Amino acid sequence: MKNLAKTKWFIYGTYLLLVFSTLLICFVLLKNGDNSINKIVTSFFEVAENRTFDYRQSIKVNRQNSFPNKDIVILAIDDASMESLWDKYGEWPIPRNVYADIIEYLETEQPKAIIFDLMFIKSLKTSKDADSKLISTMNKYSNIYTGINFDNMDYDAREPINLPERLSVKVNNTSKANFIKYKNCRPIIDGLLNGNVNVASTNTERDADGIIRHFSPIMLYNNNYYPHLAFKAGADYILNKNLEQLYIDNDRNLQVEDVKIPLTSHGNAILNWYSHFDSISNTYPLYKLINEMSPDFQGTKFNFKDKFIFLGVTADSMYDIKSVPIEKKYPGVTIQATVLNNILDNNFIKKTDSYLNVLITAAVILLVGAIVMLSNSTVFALLSTVLFGIAYVFVSYYILVLYNLWIPIVLPVLAVVAAFTLSILAKYLMKSRDFEYQYKLATLDGLTELYNHRYFQDTLRKQIDIARRYNQSVSLIICDIDFFKKFNDTYGHQTGDAVLRQVAQTLKKNSRVTDFVCRYGGEEMSIILPNTNAEEAMLLANRICSAVSEKPFHITPVDKTNITISLGVSTFPDNAQTPQDLIEWADKGLYYAKEHGRNQVGRY
Ligand code: GH3
Ligand code: MG
Ligand code: MG
Repeated sequence: MKNLAKTKWFIYGTYLLLVFSTLLICFVLLKNGDNSINKIVTSFFEVAENRTFDYRQSIKVNRQNSFPNKDIVILAIDDASMESLWDKYGEWPIPRNVYADIIEYLETEQPKAIIFDLMFIKSLKTSKDADSKLISTMNKYSNIYTGINFDNMDYDAREPINLPERLSVKVNNTSKANFIKYKNCRPIIDGLLNGNVNVASTNTERDADGIIRHFSPIMLYNNNYYPHLAFKAGADYILNKNLEQLYIDNDRNLQVEDVKIPLTSHGNAILNWYSHFDSISNTYPLYKLINEMSPDFQGTKFNFKDKFIFLGVTADSMYDIKSVPIEKKYPGVTIQATVLNNILDNNFIKKTDSYLNVLITAAVILLVGAIVMLSNSTVFALLSTVLFGIAYVFVSYYILVLYNLWIPIVLPVLAVVAAFTLSILAKYLMKSRDFEYQYKLATLDGLTELYNHRYFQDTLRKQIDIARRYNQSVSLIICDIDFFKKFNDTYGHQTGDAVLRQVAQTLKKNSRVTDFVCRYGGEEMSIILPNTNAEEAMLLANRICSAVSEKPFHITPVDKTNITISLGVSTFPDNAQTPQDLIEWADKGLYYAKEHGRNQVGRY
């Protein structure tokens, strides 16, 4: 039984070793490899893991667990505004002097910033007068922001444009984070680039599945770093001055005063999403503002004091459809607003790194393995494992909502399934070995390893039944060691036992694989010979008798002696019809052999 416990831990240990080494190999492969299998496996995990992030964010947003900051207002060019402006000005885009009027109107309310999620493209010039009005108005205030867009075209007919130095930021990066590099950008009107308007990037990057989950606070162009539009607006506000210098610490945190933005190795910040940015307190249609601006306006005006105002398109017909975790169609300006909101609330998501992911997975495997090994029933183990899996998913949701930490779900949940399956397998393997051991214990004799007396009785009965059914014969040999009492008295019981074992081996060696060699009791052994008639049985018995008498038996490692046995043979159906009678007849044969000088076969 002690042996069995050892086997149990041996199997469990081997199993754990196997799981951990597989995990380690996977980890090393995924970390260092760059082959296609790797990419497929990695992207499968990434896509699946990203999905779990989307679900977590959607659930949070639908449960209204996170409201947007009331200081952020989206001045939305929605479908209604587009229709009314188009109607009013007879052209689209509307003349740029209209934006100048809007700026002048808003500035009277002293907003914190006015951020245009629009690009005033050079080539889309409306009229010279309109443009110069916009340029002079925008340059009048320090809290106006507008966009520029970087790109990487494979075949670019344009000369890369030079951006003024004032738009770039110095970056002190002590981490290994790399930033996205761009080769060119779309020119906007010169008067904005060269004035003192804040111009920053409106670039958005999608994940492999087309969904936007992150943004790059800074990006590389012409060996200089340029900030992202909403990020710059937020950083300027926090610093209370123009953003010039940024720090990224060893742990890849981008720091702006107290705001810590955890970056991925690609220099991205993962966004945290909010519910209902389109509610009345956060979104105001542009046409209503235009109405407000009219001198004879009567109703209540929107209060823009101290607000961050984003001006951008939300009209279904105009914006290119962007997908985010919480919505399939999401206006780009709302993504900009979300970036600023994350900065104001210091609310970015941090993703656990791969070392911690492996640690979590290993812990999960250990726990599930322990559940399975320690539970007495498979159903209980299954239920506990499923419950544990569900609990893990719940915990990961709350960790994300409460601590902004994105811990993995896919790998650990797969590990739960794999660990459960493997531990159940290991357990059954152990059980089957246990069964095998118990079976041996029940059927074999401990000293000689021959079948025991009970097995002998069962088999004899069964073989007689079979022989009767198929009209065959069964023979039985019973043998007894000659003068064994004397042998014991001379050499001791220990030596007697050793000789007993050697006789058993000799019997086994000289019988057929289909025969059943058993220990009948004491120093008496028996052999059941299925489908064997009297003549064949006598032949075998004589062969065994000579084999024993000719074999030298070890009594010490060096000394040898010879012993003899006497045998009795009986056959079904010739001598008897029942097992008892067959044994009795073989016994009679044995008695005959003993009576007639031993070391021979007797048949009554
Ligand atoms: P015989 O030739 O008439 O068979 O003489 P014998 O001395 O062998 O007589 P018997 O068969 O009656 O004696 C059985 C002896 O076998 C008694 C006992 O000392 C010995 N014996 C029985 N079982 C064991 C065992 O497991 N180990 C050892 N060492 N001796 C055993
Ligand atoms: Mg005996
Ligand atoms: Mg004897």
